[in-house]
Amino acid sequence: MARPSPVSDQVKTLFAAEGRHLWSIDELHESVVQALGAADYSTVFRAVSGLERDGLIKRIDLGDGKVHYEVSDEHHEHIRCDVCGRVVEVPGCVLEDASFAVASSTGFKVTSHQLLFSGICPDCESARQA
Ligand SMILES: [Zn+2]
Ligand SMILES: [Zn+2]
Repeated sequence: MARPSPVSDQVKTLFAAEGRHLWSIDELHESVVQALGAADYSTVFRAVSGLERDGLIKRIDLGDGKVHYEVSDEHHEHIRCDVCGRVVEVPGCVLEDASFAVASSTGFKVTSHQLLFSGICPDCESARQA
């Protein structure tokens, strides 16, 4: 069994923390460095790959060309603010019925989907109105 690494423990802690659920490797690396003083980018990358392989986290494509990760918990969609870029969870699945329609129109067996809504978050909306 592999020796437990402080980096991978820290990465797990970050994913378990409340308040934020999406992380890019860059952001994880930055936070790990802040917490531990120093950490190799490649060590963080390996820790993240390991968690992904174990099915604890999954990749999310937000269409910005970066890879983001989140904890593999219940399926949910995402919405991104056009102004500040904040990405928030949309609880539950809005596409359950659509999967059947997609399956019957394409002949594919649908295994997953990713959906990203765009909009303006409440903070940015109230700032615009102020
Ligand atoms: Zn915003
Ligand atoms: Zn999410």
